[in-house]
Amino acid sequence: MTQIFDTLVIGAGPAGMAAAIAAAESGQRVGVVDDNPAPGGQVWRHGTPLPNAGRRWKGQFEAAPAVRLAGWRVIDCLRLAPDGGVLRAECNTPSVPAADLHFRHLILATGARERFLPFPGWTLPNVMGVGGLDAMVRGGLPIAGKRVVVAGTGPLLLAVAAHLIKRGAQVVAICEQASLAQMAPLGLALLRQPGKLRQGAAYRWATRKTPFLTHCWPLAALAEPGADDHRDPGTQPRLRTVTLHRNERQWNVACDYLACGFHLVPNTELATLLGCQMQDGFVVTDQQMRTSTPGVWCAGEPTGIGGVDASLLEGRIAGLSAAGKSEAALSLSQRRPAIQAFTQALEHACRLNPRLRDLAAEETTVCRCEDVHMGALRERSSARDARLHTRCGMGPCQGRICGAATEFLFGWLPDPARPPIFPALVSSLMEEAAAGSPAQPEIDSR
Ligand SMILES: Cc1cc2nc3c(=O)[nH]c(=O)nc-3n(C[C@H](O)[C@H](O)[C@H](O)COP(=O)(O)OP(=O)(O)OC[C@H]3O[C@@H](n4cnc5c(N)ncnc54)[C@H](O)[C@@H]3O)c2cc1C
Repeated sequence: MTQIFDTLVIGAGPAGMAAAIAAAESGQRVGVVDDNPAPGGQVWRHGTPLPNAGRRWKGQFEAAPAVRLAGWRVIDCLRLAPDGGVLRAECNTPSVPAADLHFRHLILATGARERFLPFPGWTLPNVMGVGGLDAMVRGGLPIAGKRVVVAGTGPLLLAVAAHLIKRGAQVVAICEQASLAQMAPLGLALLRQPGKLRQGAAYRWATRKTPFLTHCWPLAALAEPGADDHRDPGTQPRLRTVTLHRNERQWNVACDYLACGFHLVPNTELATLLGCQMQDGFVVTDQQMRTSTPGVWCAGEPTGIGGVDASLLEGRIAGLSAAGKSEAALSLSQRRPAIQAFTQALEHACRLNPRLRDLAAEETTVCRCEDVHMGALRERSSARDARLHTRCGMGPCQGRICGAATEFLFGWLPDPARPPIFPALVSSLMEEAAAGSPAQPEIDSR
């Protein structure tokens, strides 16, 4: 299958939806690719109950004259020039052949994922990401009456704890690794963002009966054999207790789930594959969200973790700019500094305490795809060295989980992205090899 677009948007989260709407309303032929069946990204893809803003944006997106490739994932770039290029995408349904997506302008709105840090027991069943548990509950996991510890860092802790309580969970503690002093500048930045302040206050009110412990983190998740486990030796060990640490004190908390995530890591693999300039792990853009690669824009979390409003604004700027409406884009970009101040304050508040490097013991798994333990990594000198000698980062997640962990633990910078950027079907790669260097794409200039 070949599709030809003026503007191709990768990601249908808030940033991608806003970009697609702006470009389509400006008369561009727009295509939007997202690897999930439903648009909305991390925050709005899970259907009901959606906040008003989510309903409004999703409604506008569904109504916009754009081609939506839902359940498709971009795996490679076949050609890139200032006048356009071709990306290869693969469908979630393996029987559907891969597609070549031709574009004149490309907007990357690929979002971010959770950061996980290894500690003893972090791979036990019922220990999961904060956003991960939230998504499972939205997908139907029964949580009423379950005891949950929410831990890690970032505003997601409070948002998810509030949602779990609403669904009947008993959230026994919210553990934020940052100290109160480290979070203070974020509080000041919130004063200049009344909408976010109101939202934060609502989450705190919803979680008011749960202790919010700053400077607190999990030391270990423990599986203790229960009566059921004794009867059936084949039963998987299940989480029973979490050991928490705060101010040199440690204690155990009984729980059914531990939701643990240490803020977010931007999805920049596609941007690095396309040669976009990076700074401190984020994609560098100008005021119109143009990257250093001609013809490529970037919006939302790959440029900085700033929440829904930042993603929506940047998406809209990118969509207008890609459609040639530079004046409108520049006018909107005047709203960015306030949002960027919040993004920076958030980054500061979520800076990881160096003591979290000591959580993993020698036998703690770091790369769960390839079962590589901390002890095996201590002798290695770089991400590449670890790959070659231990296969760390070579499993199905391709280092998306352990890469962020080893960067924090050892300061190893990830290797530059190489195609395919996601594990791909052999048939897609064979088609690509058979096609050789693709012909000059035909661009639809409507
Ligand atoms: C449970 C939860 C609650 C939250 N609550 C709030 C809140 O109350 N307020 C707030 O401000 N923020 C909240 N957030 C954060 C918010 O989700 C993000 O700020 C926002 O979604 C970022 O939008 P985005 O478009 O930049 O990225 P995303 O929403 O991450 O969207 C990016 C999309 O691109 C897709 N994608 C990536 N790479 C590819 C590829 N190669 N091919 C195809 N598709 C690809 C991804 O699958 C994803 O669907 C919450 C997040 C979570 C998880």
